[in-house]
Amino acid sequence: MIGRLERRAIDIRGVVQGVGFRPFVHGLATRLHLVGFVANRGGRVEVEVEGDPEALAEFERELRASAPPLARIESLVARDVAARGEPDFRIHPSRGDASPAVYIAPDVATCEACLAELFDPADRRFAYPFINCTACGPRLTIITGSPYDRERTTMAGFAMCERCRREYEDPGDRRFHAEPIACPECGPRLAAFDGSGSIRDADPIRAAATALTSGRIVAVKGLGGFHLACDAENEAAVAMLRARKHREDKPFAVMVAGIDAAVSLCEVDAAEADLLQSPARPIVLLAKRRGARVAAAVAPDGNRLGLMLPYTPLHHLLMSAVGHRALVMTSGNRSDEPIAIANDDARSRLRGIADLVLLHDRDIRVRCEDSVVRLVAASPVVIRRSRGYAPAPLGLAFDCSAPILAVGGQLKNTFALGRGREAIVSHHVGDLDDLMAFDAFERDVALYERTFNLGPAVVAHDLHPDYASTRFALARTGVTHVGVQHHHAHLASCMAEHGLEGPVIGVVWDGAGWGPDGSIWGGEFLVGDRGDVYRAAHFRAVALPGGDLAAREPWRMALAHLRDAGLDDSDALRAVPETTRRAVARMVERGLNAPMTSSVGRLFDAVAALCGAATAMTFEGQAAMWLESLAEASADAGRYPFDLGNPAEAGSMPPMTIDTRPLIARVEADRAAGVLPAVIARRFHTTLVDVVAGVARALRARTGLRRVVLTGGVFLNGILTAEIERRLAGEAFEVYRHRVVSPGDGGLSLGQLAVAAARIGQPKAR
Ligand code: ZN
Ligand code: ZN
Ligand code: FE
Repeated sequence: MIGRLERRAIDIRGVVQGVGFRPFVHGLATRLHLVGFVANRGGRVEVEVEGDPEALAEFERELRASAPPLARIESLVARDVAARGEPDFRIHPSRGDASPAVYIAPDVATCEACLAELFDPADRRFAYPFINCTACGPRLTIITGSPYDRERTTMAGFAMCERCRREYEDPGDRRFHAEPIACPECGPRLAAFDGSGSIRDADPIRAAATALTSGRIVAVKGLGGFHLACDAENEAAVAMLRARKHREDKPFAVMVAGIDAAVSLCEVDAAEADLLQSPARPIVLLAKRRGARVAAAVAPDGNRLGLMLPYTPLHHLLMSAVGHRALVMTSGNRSDEPIAIANDDARSRLRGIADLVLLHDRDIRVRCEDSVVRLVAASPVVIRRSRGYAPAPLGLAFDCSAPILAVGGQLKNTFALGRGREAIVSHHVGDLDDLMAFDAFERDVALYERTFNLGPAVVAHDLHPDYASTRFALARTGVTHVGVQHHHAHLASCMAEHGLEGPVIGVVWDGAGWGPDGSIWGGEFLVGDRGDVYRAAHFRAVALPGGDLAAREPWRMALAHLRDAGLDDSDALRAVPETTRRAVARMVERGLNAPMTSSVGRLFDAVAALCGAATAMTFEGQAAMWLESLAEASADAGRYPFDLGNPAEAGSMPPMTIDTRPLIARVEADRAAGVLPAVIARRFHTTLVDVVAGVARALRARTGLRRVVLTGGVFLNGILTAEIERRLAGEAFEVYRHRVVSPGDGGLSLGQLAVAAARIGQPKAR
């Protein structure tokens, strides 16, 4: 070779283990005729390459440009070292070091290369439901400890056959160190059970497909839990699934074979198609086409349908066995219980729901439900960040000067770990009211701490004393506790996503959160930064008759708001017996079992009840979702009045109050005058946009701030999010909203972490 040789040592951090990174580096170096080595060092990858300078430059470019799809390079630092002149390029055996950062990749949908093999009759893994490689397959859901290797996954009990071992050990093979590697000879197997026991003489996938196409319900073991499946076109089957699962209205997700099938059911733009096909394979909420061939019972009210594409080899085989028809794929549980993950648990708990159970002997360690995303004005709104996304690390603009555990909220719980300039937000754990979910929470917190090798010195939690997560946090000894107000956590969560520091205006609207004044907050304008905020404005507080019950019975909130506005009652609430209404009216008047709340979520309930959804909802937020889909049907340009108390006042005290009485009075007047519910819903949404614009302007005048952050569960609402964003941008505000974690309580843990990091950075922890 002519010219001089140079040698470069490159340190790479990020998601670079368990994703096929070393074989990729090996292949690249070999192709460019470089010598040297690559090695895993704790949580990072170390490379030394030697060769002519041009090839070295090309190597560094390609490292970034064509890294394996699952890899995420957070940092890449190269320096010159002395040339050594080895004969070739090698992969050195792994060796742990003191570096504490260990990453686990999220679970990933079956890749194209594996799919090709799956359907190739000549391949030894033809039709094998557990095919995977370094670019795809289970990760988080099978992990039992750290470091990530086969011994510390639920694949430990499967001894590799000789051929699998050879692939596993060959640096040139695309299954080099694919920890869950398996084949029909040595790997997991399927089995099917019906009411009478194991079905031995039939192929389990055939048996499941036959059951599905003849209108029966099948439980299918997935990556992070069981699904309940049925034919999505079969009205009777879907209705039966609803009845047996005790799930009355909540929409079911549907799995379709591919993009063409998705397009036949829903409007799918290019960005949505990308999202559907992304390696995370989330459920994507899409606008349903008129006359889409899907049973009405799949999504009873609403204009949207949640679609996803197959993401395991088993899904692909099943879809092909049912002739690519659309299947309902909903979580394998009864109503509000956590999704089943263990075989015996599934067989006992799902008995009576499923006619057939399709399972296998690869255990699921971490319960991880499907992620749910929608696109609003071309940007994602994450309804649930879980399978496929968690636990990928998020970069932070601030430093966690000590390791932090943030335990999240009570509902839609996630927890988060923070270290240095990184946060790891967990999968969706669920509602901690449920004992099974709380057990999983405790086990998974311990697993994450072990796996990521992080012992927290600081534990951040909500101020609500009755949250199971708060009690868990306070029971931890030998750590610094940081209590974080619920809405401050929401705000800090969105700020952390965007790397925002310094003061902002936060619009924090949700269902309920513990307020420091003893009332329930949920319609807040906070001004401040990650470390501290003050309540600059809020909705007028009204009674919440029956406490949490009010979230499921919207008429209660309607009654509370009507009485607040000086009105007695409304014909819209007639479906509720008069004696019941009168009892609740008394609760409101006497303040018995009726805490005060400024919640915008509950304001949505009140308006929905007046629009015709008075009686029981089966899940929180249902009334608001229904109101949003109603509003989509109207182009009315009207709006309702509201009052802003003391907007001109200087300083921070007292906060402005958004008086909802004129609004409620006009809604009720419209209703009584026979105005269509869709028009009322539309006007209500416009009014809320007006409220944000009005308050934001007043706060800008007071404080000079122009950065506005939108957060809280109410911002799952697409109309509100898009229109507020547009209006504020038009008035020269800088608007920020969530794109990575949920605006709802699933995003709380990240915010708690961000606040805690700010407070421990100060000399005196609060
Ligand atoms: Zn693959
Ligand atoms: Zn094998
Ligand atoms: Fe909240």
